[in-house]
Amino acid sequence: MMRAMTSSRCRILIVGAGLAGAATAFHLRKLGVADVILLEREPLPGMHASGRNAAIVRERMESAALSALAREGAAALRAGALAEYRASGGYLLGTGEEQAATRMPPATGRGAWCPADGTVDVAGLLQRYLAGQDVRYGVSFEGYESTPEGLRVLTSSGPILAAHVVNAAGPWAGEVGELALEARKRHLFVSAPDPAIDPAWPYLWDVRAEYYLRPESGGLLLCACDETPAAPGDYGEDPEVIEQLYAKLARFQPGFGDLRIARRWVGQRTFASDRLPVIGPDAREPRLFHVAALGGHGVTLSYAVGRLAAAMLTAGASGPQAFDPARATRSATSAAAPAGARSPA
Ligand SMILES: Cc1cc2nc3c(=O)[nH]c(=O)nc-3n(C[C@H](O)[C@H](O)[C@H](O)COP(=O)(O)OP(=O)(O)OC[C@H]3O[C@@H](n4cnc5c(N)ncnc54)[C@H](O)[C@@H]3O)c2cc1C
Repeated sequence: MMRAMTSSRCRILIVGAGLAGAATAFHLRKLGVADVILLEREPLPGMHASGRNAAIVRERMESAALSALAREGAAALRAGALAEYRASGGYLLGTGEEQAATRMPPATGRGAWCPADGTVDVAGLLQRYLAGQDVRYGVSFEGYESTPEGLRVLTSSGPILAAHVVNAAGPWAGEVGELALEARKRHLFVSAPDPAIDPAWPYLWDVRAEYYLRPESGGLLLCACDETPAAPGDYGEDPEVIEQLYAKLARFQPGFGDLRIARRWVGQRTFASDRLPVIGPDAREPRLFHVAALGGHGVTLSYAVGRLAAAMLTAGASGPQAFDPARATRSATSAAAPAGARSPA
């Protein structure tokens, strides 16, 4: 049953309608929990990390702790029922022996061939997760108070009482949940269309030299794998990054020649210090639940992260120790003043 838009109470209130919050809501609904409100400060979904990424679905992770989530998440996206999936395949240069030129003639180097990897329509995926959800756009989370009845969430359009609050605020998750997280900028570039670029080429990701590229809009989408710490929401361009990109291409991928950049944008990926997600109840206020720090793989992981979070929220199941929010709790002495959250009583 649809909730009235004026409802001021719910079972689960989710802060953030990016992939983390949306996938959690999607799985809650699959488990029969429809009494969910999402607060999204922006007028539209996907204005931050979930709308500024490279859309690559990459199953193989550097971290063993992420492997199971990546397998599950990638398999769900590959099935194609959630959003359009393009199984381009991909090379992880530096981790295998196939010549990348086998399937991408201008490419240099050897790597593992990952045939099932590809790209997904991220905007479509987000819409799918959010279909039928009660999303309050243009409404900000401004803090909460712990009460015996639940968490009284203060929002820009009045208080909402919730049994549980989910912190899925992306780059702002550190502020919202008083966690030690760091937002880092990453630049993406798209080169001008060129008939020599085959749209069916795979992605090429050099995990040692740290850069990646793939076909996009008739040109190439390129990334120098930069990561500069920044205040949440700071999308100011750093001019040196394009120079870093050109230097990496000249050194490692000269076969692509001179590329003219037609478009560029900056996004933010959010990390805990060990670069693993933060998923689970808060150590200080267990009715606050974090689904944060998805780092650079939140597209691939989203389906599995949402399923795990929803299972933990509904069944009280414990999650992997590696994702425990306690490891990212700000110590009382090092805590910066929180911008949004009020300390639980
Ligand atoms: C440049 C770049 C390239 C990437 N490439 C890939 C890739 O190829 N493959 C991959 O798997 N992953 C990739 N990622 C990672 C992926 O995009 C992220 O992990 C994922 O989008 C994070 O989703 P999120 O929901 O946590 O954050 P977000 O999408 O940022 O969503 C958080 C939401 O919370 C809202 N919010 C914040 N504070 C408040 C508040 N106080 N009140 C109300 N709402 C609030 C924000 O408005 C925002 O919409 C990339 C990321 C970037 C930046």
